[in-house]
Amino acid sequence: MDWETKLIHSGYDLCEHTGAVSIPIYHASTFRQPSIDNFGPFEYGRSGNPTRDALEGLMAVLEGGMYGFAFSSGMAAISSALSLLSAEEHLVVSRDVYGGTYRALTGLFNRFGITHSFVDTADLGAIQAAITAQTKALFLETPSNPTLRITDLAACANLAKSHGLFTIVDNTFMTPYLQRPLELGIDVVVHSATKFLGGHSDTIAGVAVVKDELLAKRLRMVQNTFGAVLGPQDCWLVQRGIRTLKVRLDAQQEKAAKLAAWLLAHPQVAAVHYPGLPAHPGREVHEAQSGGPGCVLSFTLADRQGARAFLKRVKLPLLAVSLGGVESILSHPVTMSHASMPKKYQEILGIEESLFRLSVGLESYADLENDLAQALDFSR
Ligand SMILES: *Cc1c(COP(=O)(O)O)cnc(C)c1O
Repeated sequence: MDWETKLIHSGYDLCEHTGAVSIPIYHASTFRQPSIDNFGPFEYGRSGNPTRDALEGLMAVLEGGMYGFAFSSGMAAISSALSLLSAEEHLVVSRDVYGGTYRALTGLFNRFGITHSFVDTADLGAIQAAITAQTKALFLETPSNPTLRITDLAACANLAKSHGLFTIVDNTFMTPYLQRPLELGIDVVVHSATKFLGGHSDTIAGVAVVKDELLAKRLRMVQNTFGAVLGPQDCWLVQRGIRTLKVRLDAQQEKAAKLAAWLLAHPQVAAVHYPGLPAHPGREVHEAQSGGPGCVLSFTLADRQGARAFLKRVKLPLLAVSLGGVESILSHPVTMSHASMPKKYQEILGIEESLFRLSVGLESYADLENDLAQALDFSR
């Protein structure tokens, strides 16, 4: 099936009693057991729920996996995937991972004896050099946040296999429509479904997908034991969002690409990070492993002190954390998503005062460009 068909017809078989075209929201905490020898398809709402089951099945299909798991947030999905590790085990992690993942590793999992090394995963040699006898997994994010660095997923999967490691990829920025890590040999895909999958900035949700039966069994155990499951109402909202994933991303991506080129040519802009730009580092790798550059870009102002003046004037993109909604969202990583990261680290990653991240929404291109143009007009 083509993508537009798959997005609309996967995950839910029409209700045979009513013919309802949308999955019912099953608000039930427990399900009657047919007998003491037969638990039936569902027993207790934490272990499984029909509305959640439909979302999990849909995500498994879209990612080209076998088993999906829906969690109460992207961080719950990531923390649950990290809980596949045990004390004394070590992870190699993309050094510019999502701030919440950084916090989970440095403030929580380290307390349970799970250690990590942050490396530039664009550099295979750096990954190789960080692997020790304790290393069990690689945790990757590509394009990364906020400077959209590219990691070669197939090469990392091969390297990991040759060392007996498993691999986790945070695929939030791309979604399965644009990038399917499992098809490139990755073992676990995690998502913040809060972003493009939900797509409307109206729910917090997370998803993980795996292909391998044994990993699925272990992740199901974590999901049921840790219990950070997604409620049925939110499972329904994410499914509704997913139905329009392709049309949203196609339209948003087109605007993002135009804005990236326009910003690059603007005299008040010093640099633009976007995998669709010809000079973007790793562009060829990204093109080979994905279906497009996506809808998120970042840029630095030529006037390093201009951030506040720019922010005061910008009207259309909302100043907010988060991304992936129908509305354009502008964020300031230094004071927002990466505020908890040590200064020294921010500098290594190019996260400076004048850096902004823009998640391009569905507004008219002309309105977005005009608004950024007036906000960047420092002569006023
Ligand atoms: C937002 C985000 C997360 C965390 O997801 P929540 O749903 O906010 O818990 C993880 N990874 C990336 C890349 C994100 O953008």
